[in-house]
Amino acid sequence: MAEKFHNFIAGRWVESKTGQWFENRNPADKNDLVGLFPKSDARDVHEAVAAAKEAQKAWRLVPAPKRAELLYKAGRILEERKEALSRDMTREMGKVLNETRGDVQEAIDTAYYAGGEGRRLFGDTCPVELPNKFGMSVRCPIGVAGLITPWNFPMAIPSWKSFPALVCGNTVVLKPAGDTPLSAVNFVKALEDAGAPPGVVNLVHGGGTEVGAALVEHPDVRVISFTGSTAVGKQIASSCGKSLKRLSLELGGKNAQIVMDDADLDLAVEGALWGAFGTTGQRCTATSRLIVHERVLAKFTEMLLPRVQALRLGNGLDSNSQVGPLVNEQRRREVHQYVRIGVEEGATLLCGGEPASGGSLDHGWFYKPTVFTNVTRSMRIAREEIFGPVVAILRIGSLEEAVDVLNDTNYGLSSSIYTRDVNAAFRAIRDIEAGITYVNGPTIGAEVQLPFGGVKETGNGHREASHTVLDTYTEWKSIYVDYSGRLQKAQIDTHDARG
Ligand code: NAD
Repeated sequence: MAEKFHNFIAGRWVESKTGQWFENRNPADKNDLVGLFPKSDARDVHEAVAAAKEAQKAWRLVPAPKRAELLYKAGRILEERKEALSRDMTREMGKVLNETRGDVQEAIDTAYYAGGEGRRLFGDTCPVELPNKFGMSVRCPIGVAGLITPWNFPMAIPSWKSFPALVCGNTVVLKPAGDTPLSAVNFVKALEDAGAPPGVVNLVHGGGTEVGAALVEHPDVRVISFTGSTAVGKQIASSCGKSLKRLSLELGGKNAQIVMDDADLDLAVEGALWGAFGTTGQRCTATSRLIVHERVLAKFTEMLLPRVQALRLGNGLDSNSQVGPLVNEQRRREVHQYVRIGVEEGATLLCGGEPASGGSLDHGWFYKPTVFTNVTRSMRIAREEIFGPVVAILRIGSLEEAVDVLNDTNYGLSSSIYTRDVNAAFRAIRDIEAGITYVNGPTIGAEVQLPFGGVKETGNGHREASHTVLDTYTEWKSIYVDYSGRLQKAQIDTHDARG
């Protein structure tokens, strides 16, 4: 009998009002049932939001350094449980154990980084133009935050949202992706065990259209933070637009690595391998395009190809595996569809291009690491997010052309350039339209103390991580204290005084 997991509402683990459950299966072995999770609906969301709203009345008054202690404790608990939580994560979403350990580590880093904000949350003090008057600004909590997350970073992304939201004095309702509900349970359990007061953290499992949309539309949810596809992000934006609800969006990417003719090619190949095939290409920052200078194109391709073909596919719990499965059957179908499109568009398939099979691979959603060359910028495989182990090589003849090709997409999340020329590197940093640019590093590898997010259709201008995330979870309040004992008129009295 499969283990049943629950929603977490008002400090209690509860079944959904629907009485229904959905299955969570291991993508490396579809016969392995990880557990059953509540298939919730709007009624569960209402209950969770009501609990969060009630709890926020007291939570906002807890001094921020005290709120931070909850994060520190949760961070320590995640550290103690890191290995077990990483194994659970690999089992439910497939990426190899080293990467799920990194995912849990990112949540730990975020706990400590955001915890530090409990003693900062800086505002400004500044001079004011009238005598005997004082000016300052402070950050205020917003209220209940609705957090909607994808499956590819099942603990890191909930932590990026929850920890800063909480330290700022908000309460949260988390709606995790249906493919990774266990990691969300493990994450919330750490906060429960760290002593989160009832209602401060709530978890509701279920589908996007039932639970996610109900959260977005709920009038008592004052801020939504969403990470996921651009298509869903646009729907959420139009819904939030109607009620002018605060919204942070982290959406898709079509990230590229430029390889210039003076690049260290060994390094560039290592970067391309890690960037394109880490997490089986299912990262929002995955390298999806390799923009390579024509003078090194043949050599680079010749070096890259055997390395791609040698990547070992397998269950991520096996330490021998380098690339795990895709997250589910539908994802594999969609990736394969893009490969067909690439072939039909006239790109040259160099390797991969089909599901991987044989032995234990037959039990999971594995796909062979795939490389296309002779790709032009107008092809769909050069423009649309594939979110799988597929990379497209494009030829360029100059830095200007490389940057132009890189920018020729609706997205703008991560980017990279390999060159030994400092002038070229700085020009690329200046001209690339993306939220993140790496020099001599792959497109993946963000750290929590720098802003994370992108331009164009990758988002709506907000950034996660760093102190910049505080802008999502706080309202500014400007405060003027007049201790002159008389009515003073800004712009008027000062003007008169000067005149
Ligand atoms: P998705 O958009 O299908 O789902 C994301 C979340 O939204 C899930 O929890 C889902 O249940 C929920 N959802 C679906 N429809 C909804 C609706 N109508 N209203 C409210 N919620 C709804 O995305 P996914 O397949 O889980 O994740 C992959 C996508 O996420 C990719 O496009 C990837 O680039 C993007 N992503 C972006 C970042 C980033 O920071 N920029 C990070 C990771 C993933």
